[in-house]
Amino acid sequence: MKNNFRIIACWVVLLCAASFAFGARAEETMAFTVSMEKPEAHYYHVVFRCDGLKGATQDFKMPSWTPGYYLIMDYAKNVLNFKAEDETGNPLAWEKTAKNTWMVRTGNAASVAVSYDVYAFTLFVANSYLGSDKGFISPTGVFMHVAGRIRNPVTVDLRLHEKWSRVATGLDPVEGKPNTFRAPDFDVLYDCPILMGNQEILSFEVKGIPHIFAADGFGALDKAKFVSDHKRMVEAATSLIGDIPYTHYAFLGIGPGGGGIEHLNSSSLAFSPDGLSNPGSYMGWLSFVAHEYFHLYNVKAIRPIALGPFDYDRENYTNMLWVSEGGTVYYEYLILNRAGLMTRDEVLERLPRSIAAFENSPGRLFQSATMSSFDAWIQYFSRGGDSANTTISYYDKGAALLLILDLAIRHDSQNRHSLDDVMRTLYGVYYKEKKRGFTDGEFRAVCEGLSGTSLAEIFEYASTVKDIDYPKYLAYAGLEIDVAPKALPGGSFGAAARDSNGSLVVTNVERNSPAWQAGLSPQDEIIALDGIRADARMWNGAFASRKAGDKVAVEIARGKKIQTIEVILGTKTERTFRLKPMPNPDPLQAAIFKDWLKN
Ligand SMILES: [Zn+2]
Repeated sequence: MKNNFRIIACWVVLLCAASFAFGARAEETMAFTVSMEKPEAHYYHVVFRCDGLKGATQDFKMPSWTPGYYLIMDYAKNVLNFKAEDETGNPLAWEKTAKNTWMVRTGNAASVAVSYDVYAFTLFVANSYLGSDKGFISPTGVFMHVAGRIRNPVTVDLRLHEKWSRVATGLDPVEGKPNTFRAPDFDVLYDCPILMGNQEILSFEVKGIPHIFAADGFGALDKAKFVSDHKRMVEAATSLIGDIPYTHYAFLGIGPGGGGIEHLNSSSLAFSPDGLSNPGSYMGWLSFVAHEYFHLYNVKAIRPIALGPFDYDRENYTNMLWVSEGGTVYYEYLILNRAGLMTRDEVLERLPRSIAAFENSPGRLFQSATMSSFDAWIQYFSRGGDSANTTISYYDKGAALLLILDLAIRHDSQNRHSLDDVMRTLYGVYYKEKKRGFTDGEFRAVCEGLSGTSLAEIFEYASTVKDIDYPKYLAYAGLEIDVAPKALPGGSFGAAARDSNGSLVVTNVERNSPAWQAGLSPQDEIIALDGIRADARMWNGAFASRKAGDKVAVEIARGKKIQTIEVILGTKTERTFRLKPMPNPDPLQAAIFKDWLKN
């Protein structure tokens, strides 16, 4: 996942083999039919037919979350008109036994069909959407599974809306059956979103393997350059690992909005060509798409042990999202640099932004990278309360930690190894050989094995809020980093406010700031500053022309009570973490810098 408020035939063959090895029952067949006759009503109609199930009852379950988006979504809430019948069309009794479980009294029927409607009207990568313009199926929210049968093969027959002609997905097509697809098991089905409509499809090949980019349109973008840039990104990412674990790949541009989710051989991406003509936002796009693409390795294959096979009913906890997400942020820069799409100077200019984002936030004193990872389920994707003051982003701190980890491994191994070797080793040993995720200890052991020394200090930085010694690690690449606090211009007030139905309402009060000291609270309405009526426009420039020590009379409404509080403006300092090459690097520093980033 990558969040914009800030996310296969060796593989398929392996999984096919695995599904039989792990007990898929050959006599059982499972098939979905999905229809969408009236898309403007936003309901998919789903029929799920299961033949050969044995037993008096069967539990049909809808996942509660989707891998890559670590938040309980309770997709079962969108299900309507659940019905079940046997092979002769006789209705079967059922009852709900949990929020996402429908227990059907199947009575050993040779064939059972359940049907239901799914409301789908949120255009977001972790939700499903159906409208007159297109359909997007986020599969964990549309396809149920039978408890205990997650490893069964399954087919999906899409009855496309009559005006549509295109389907883009990572699923393999069933030959001879238009718009019908198959998955070797439900883990694969749940990792293959489906985009339908009349999308424009751009395509390219890497090592003979087809890649497509599907979107509603590409506007004024130079399509040849767009294709060439994505091809170069894929080439750089795949040559880093040295293996391409799929037979086809689909980038699914679902439409405007924010966010992306990585999948096995596809990615779902908020995409709108508007605005991408400016070089800065286009670079932002390439970073975003490189992020979601590289997750194919880092999190899908190279994964913490908790992240697959998944328990779709509940939270799957891991301390390691700082590696899976932060590492993927760090690799955005390296991949684009190696692809020739981001210069060395651009990397040096952009990398400090991740460091500054968390180092300048008050939450860095309260939450470690491992705790931020573990609590993603209750914090990262559901901001609120005092989270702006007390939490950090495992994306930002993780990127900073993976940067210093990379430089430490390069330095300690006399530039013989790097984080790339960590990724390749984890891919080879845990994904290809052991076919499982790694434990926290195994990740550390691989890093220390390659560096040849203890990396205790870095792992302590990950699990605590201890200050990071950036100058020491950046010096390994012959870089100086500016860690000096700098006073920002103007007076500092220390609260954020925004317009809410014509009122200016406080949204956050920064811990220990002047506003916090003076007793301002979130949800206070700011009526006036120094007797002048306040609104959002005036608020934005209110303190730039003032200075530390100035007193401001703030008239507020708190509930029904109006009061005035006095805030004495302070000085806000921030650190830039700007990077620049040292004047006279030694040979090891110079060699590390040269191998780390291309010109
Ligand atoms: Zn991500």
